[in-house]
Amino acid sequence: MLLMPEPNAAVLSRRGEIVAALRRIVPGEGVIDDPTALRVFESDGLTAYRQPPMVAVLPETKDQVVEILKYCRRNNVKVVPRGAGTSLSGGALPLADGVLLGMSKFNRILEIDAANRCAVVQPGVTNLGVTQAVQHLGFYYAPDPSSQIACTIGGNVAENSGGVHCLKYGLTTNNVLGVEMVSIDGEILRLGGKHFDAAGYDLLGVMVGSEGLLGVVTEVIVRLLPAPPGARAVLMGFPSIEAAGDCVADIISSGVVPAGMEMMDRPAVEAAEAFVGAGYPLDAEAVLIVELDGCEVEIDHLSALVESIARQRGVTSCRLSATEAERLLFWAGRKAAFPAVGRISPDYLCMDGTIPRRRLAEVLRRIRDMETQFGLAVANVFHAGDGNLHPLILYDANKPGELDRAEAFGAEILRLCVEVGGVLTGEHGVGIEKRDLMDVMFSRVDLEQQQRLKCAFDVESLLNPGKVFPTLCRCAELGRVHVKGGKTRFPDLPRF
Ligand SMILES: Cc1cc2nc3c(=O)[nH]c(=O)nc-3n(C[C@H](O)[C@H](O)[C@H](O)COP(=O)(O)OP(=O)(O)OC[C@H]3O[C@@H](n4cnc5c(N)ncnc54)[C@H](O)[C@@H]3O)c2cc1C
Repeated sequence: MLLMPEPNAAVLSRRGEIVAALRRIVPGEGVIDDPTALRVFESDGLTAYRQPPMVAVLPETKDQVVEILKYCRRNNVKVVPRGAGTSLSGGALPLADGVLLGMSKFNRILEIDAANRCAVVQPGVTNLGVTQAVQHLGFYYAPDPSSQIACTIGGNVAENSGGVHCLKYGLTTNNVLGVEMVSIDGEILRLGGKHFDAAGYDLLGVMVGSEGLLGVVTEVIVRLLPAPPGARAVLMGFPSIEAAGDCVADIISSGVVPAGMEMMDRPAVEAAEAFVGAGYPLDAEAVLIVELDGCEVEIDHLSALVESIARQRGVTSCRLSATEAERLLFWAGRKAAFPAVGRISPDYLCMDGTIPRRRLAEVLRRIRDMETQFGLAVANVFHAGDGNLHPLILYDANKPGELDRAEAFGAEILRLCVEVGGVLTGEHGVGIEKRDLMDVMFSRVDLEQQQRLKCAFDVESLLNPGKVFPTLCRCAELGRVHVKGGKTRFPDLPRF
């Protein structure tokens, strides 16, 4: 069970005063303090955890964001930024003594600049909304999380989100040219711009993936790519996970860079097929979808190459999409795999770790062994080309002890990812979910260096505390916990 910082009683006792101050900044319906209405915000995609915020505020202008943050800084009130609340790592989980800062009303496309191949958008615009706004010009925004109809660009920046097409076109960090952000002191900073590179240190690189801990994003400049002239997907069934895993490694080492390469194991295929009817081969132990894009000649050449590699790895069924509708159908099953698994199990935990591609088969075999050890089943869905695993651990929250067992299982999978030379996260961030595992990957010195960076932006640790770092620190005590006469300094600072 993951613990959150103890609510600060002094702040809670000032709730009425804080709500009134926020109402002066955001008049009308933008401040929500009714306990029933606050339930809407109590959780995010990590639904095992819930906790309503002290108050939610939905600003509409940058000036309001500035004033809210200045107020919170002056009055020592914590702030949790929120987009659409689809985070799977609990990044947007509210704090009982904190302000939930919802950015959903920042939902406008501010500029489409075809000459510079970029768009300036507000952070509450949905990921898919960007592509929809520019597709009439022949452009699109490449990172495409499966949650793209709902998740926001602000959330994508904070989590450095990925998707099927990131294998070829890069993650959010490779597709964001600039951001405007407001610091906890209410200072407006602009990082990057419509151009490549920027003067000074790469603070934009620091901001992307910072999980709401360094500042609140109020504007994003996204890179637009020309839509490829065509795309087709090859749907392949394999007799074993090992054969499919080896095929992935062979395709990458042959020099082919697919637009997407996704794998599902038998339980995930069965769930997705029952939900969507995508035509997946139900006799296969693993299904691989490989998308190839470009002009027709290029697609023909690459798909023939992929098929011949797959034959050498014993592929049992192989279909090249004949029409655009069929290509989309192949993907529909994969994109709906999470909700499909939700139909076969009351609850599931979606893990997110990354491993070197060559270790894929071995890691999947060891996850299978762990199923017996923990007494829980797993459906595996993953961005195979990136080595990014998403084991979905099936459990029932109503059965005593199952959540604890599922979490222990998940932690073991992430330790395995690090053991084989991989990392704790691929695209879902650390949030609360992986917070207490950070020391599996980072030394104390590493973590202190990361916290010093946090301190440079947010000295009182008011922005999204309790997330990412296994312990809370303030700059003054970083690395030194003094105990004198049995008492620690900063007793108000929760340690967990
Ligand atoms: C069914 C499903 C499928 C998913 N598939 C994918 C996938 O394929 N790839 C992937 O990468 N993720 C995926 N996700 C996870 C999730 O959608 C992403 O992490 C997404 O980027 C979160 O965006 P959001 O707007 O919902 O942010 P939220 O969940 O609201 O917040 C996420 C984090 O961003 C911070 N944040 C939000 N807005 C701002 C802002 N304006 N300024 C500063 N910080 C901010 C929050 O504090 C929090 O730490 C999936 C989730 C679900 C439920």
